[in-house]
Amino acid sequence: MPKRREDCLFCQIAREGAYVHKGKGFVAINDINPKAPVHVLVIPEDHVDTFRDVGEFDAKESKRMLEFIAETAEKVGLTDYRVLVNVGPTAGQTVFHLHWHILGGTGSAEVPSIVATAEAEA
Ligand code: AMP
Ligand code: ZN
Repeated sequence: MPKRREDCLFCQIAREGAYVHKGKGFVAINDINPKAPVHVLVIPEDHVDTFRDVGEFDAKESKRMLEFIAETAEKVGLTDYRVLVNVGPTAGQTVFHLHWHILGGTGSAEVPSIVATAEAEA
């Protein structure tokens, strides 16, 4: 079972942040720098550095994480949306605590690619 870390921004936010949705073991927050009209981050309360380490969650927690992502999208009013994880710095990961981006609310298929944005900012 992964543990929380004192020096990690998302570990801190998961404990103290202003949530748009909270469930057992997971929180969702608004992204501070939204790349779409609705841009929410789903964050597990327990720390793993990246999606590569997702195996540290047991099968039940992993299933619950995916369900929580779908619940969060519904809760923020999205039916059509993109779910995205940046894995590693060259793929655009900037915060090294696993998180899932939910992007939507454009009313079209043109949800911007945050990978391209991250690369452009690098
Ligand atoms: P990534 O680049 O995939 O690691 O995503 C990190 C995301 O966290 C970016 O979209 C940032 O805008 C967002 N972010 C960074 N700091 C905060 C914060 N304090 N509150 C909310 N979102 C944040
Ligand atoms: Zn963390």
